[in-house]
Amino acid sequence: MPTPISRDDVARVAQLARLTLTDDELDRFTGQLGAVLDHARDIEALDIDDVPPTAHPYPLVNVLRADEVGATLDRDEVLAQAPSAEDGRFREPPILGRSRERSARLGTGHRRGRAQRLRVGDRGARGAPGRHRRNGDAIAAFNHVMVDEACCRSSGRRCGGAGRRPGPLAGVPIALKDNLCTRGVPTTCSSKILEGWRPPYDATVVQRVLAAGAVPVGKTNLDEFAMGSSTEHSAFGPTRNPWDLERVPGGSSGGSAAAVAAGFAPIALGSDTGGSIRQPASLCGVVGVKPTYGLVSRYGLVAFASSLDQIGPFATTVSDAADLLGVIAGHDPLDSTSIPDAAADLGPAVAAGRNGDLAGVRVGVIAELDGDGIDADVRAQLDAAARAIEDAGGHVATTSVPAVTYGLSAYYLIAPAEASSNLARYDGVRYGNRVEGATTGEMMDATRTAGFGDEVKRRIMLGTYALSAGYYDAYYGKAQRVRTLMQRDFAEAYASFDVLLAPTAPTVAFPFGAKDDPLTMYLSDVCTIPSNLAGHPAMSVPFGAGQDGLPVGVQVLAPTLGESVMFRVAAALEAAAPLVGRAPHAAPPIGGVR
Ligand code: GLN
Repeated sequence: MPTPISRDDVARVAQLARLTLTDDELDRFTGQLGAVLDHARDIEALDIDDVPPTAHPYPLVNVLRADEVGATLDRDEVLAQAPSAEDGRFREPPILGRSRERSARLGTGHRRGRAQRLRVGDRGARGAPGRHRRNGDAIAAFNHVMVDEACCRSSGRRCGGAGRRPGPLAGVPIALKDNLCTRGVPTTCSSKILEGWRPPYDATVVQRVLAAGAVPVGKTNLDEFAMGSSTEHSAFGPTRNPWDLERVPGGSSGGSAAAVAAGFAPIALGSDTGGSIRQPASLCGVVGVKPTYGLVSRYGLVAFASSLDQIGPFATTVSDAADLLGVIAGHDPLDSTSIPDAAADLGPAVAAGRNGDLAGVRVGVIAELDGDGIDADVRAQLDAAARAIEDAGGHVATTSVPAVTYGLSAYYLIAPAEASSNLARYDGVRYGNRVEGATTGEMMDATRTAGFGDEVKRRIMLGTYALSAGYYDAYYGKAQRVRTLMQRDFAEAYASFDVLLAPTAPTVAFPFGAKDDPLTMYLSDVCTIPSNLAGHPAMSVPFGAGQDGLPVGVQVLAPTLGESVMFRVAAALEAAAPLVGRAPHAAPPIGGVR
């Protein structure tokens, strides 16, 4: 078992990750990383060396080209293509030298001017004060409200054309998490490092909702790079929960969840790596779905942890969520992890559930997620949901999925490891502003240090450490073996049950600052992480209220491509759920009175 992480280890990892830390930060991060790694001791102690590791939910099929090893080029040909060498070192390609000369000629004044123009242009549209003003609310769900450009683009081009059949989402406003690329529209991941970036292309899901006639109304706030469970870790300030403005909306897709709960848009898209759609949906009293890994294309989703990330819908009803999933699901050749299976039509399943028909459906309540660590008010609603399922003709029994207790430890090694690799691309050379006289290395360090917030830095350092020589097997390797256990234990449970039932989150929405300690915050994901590790679908449905009248979500989990039965059970739960009304800080319904 590795020794506890030391201050020197953290200093070394920070250097590898190109982050410059002050002495205070070094002390603080050492304590915080130590606490997370200490928590992971439960999996270090597992004797599972004979269990094979799982790096990815499915064995990957490369849909882009046949993976055949071709003949090797002959040596002369390879050498003819190699850069020229001098004193045993490769010489800089001439193109780099030319651009350096050019920038020297132009001087930094020119470059600064350009950077400034970008910032000024942005402030009106997306800067923090503008966001609150233009949002017209205290909730601050949006980083950028798409009142002009994108709105005209979508509604004019897609719906207004003469003779075109309106798409299934014709005219429906949709909010988009700000880690989905939107052509010409700022996409920030709520990070300073991406400020001013306007992607030159739309994510596949964005293209699909536009083609279906939806009208994007804005880019929603998130925890920076989707790392968090409260939307407090956004570089642009937190989003507030429309049920209680002193509480968090959950995260990381807190802006999307709050936008739907507040009635700013009836549907929204988010991303879920460890629970970031389901947990905020639960805390905001809306429906949130994480589809089967690979069912929805991630092309144009800014990557966090690639073997876990999945895009999915938020909606006020199960039926709307099914419609939105129908629009975004389906194979995409631009995403090599996109599975070829066509998305099932969820309409009949939703109709059956809504009619209270769960005849013959076998539902297992996960014993490990119905005990310690889950608040009593949440457990009470879970019990009520189980009874509602029985009333609709389903069979409910308790079942065990032992590996879920190790999910958190495995996730907080795997997700940071993948994140540290994905976020290495923000090197400050292409994303940052040049500083006169600085070397490229210094620029990288400075941009990353100033551009990333603390939570992102913690993840990058944790991941860099977990992947480093000497620790790889004990941390990352072990976590991958736990992932195999997770898949095996789920497979065993699904041999006897069609779906599983669990809380979505251990608590209702919590007050700002209540979980300042990172490990405490990470515990919010204990019920949602297992499905991401397994690659399975899962969704949260509002079911009654808990403490202080705040919404509670119940989670329905299903095996790979089990969306149909999952939506059927979710629709039955929705039909049976106690009425809790609208969020007190929601916008008045259009054309109605509050
Ligand atoms: N809260 C989890 C995390 O911080 C999950 C985030 C997510 O699903 N994007 O990593």
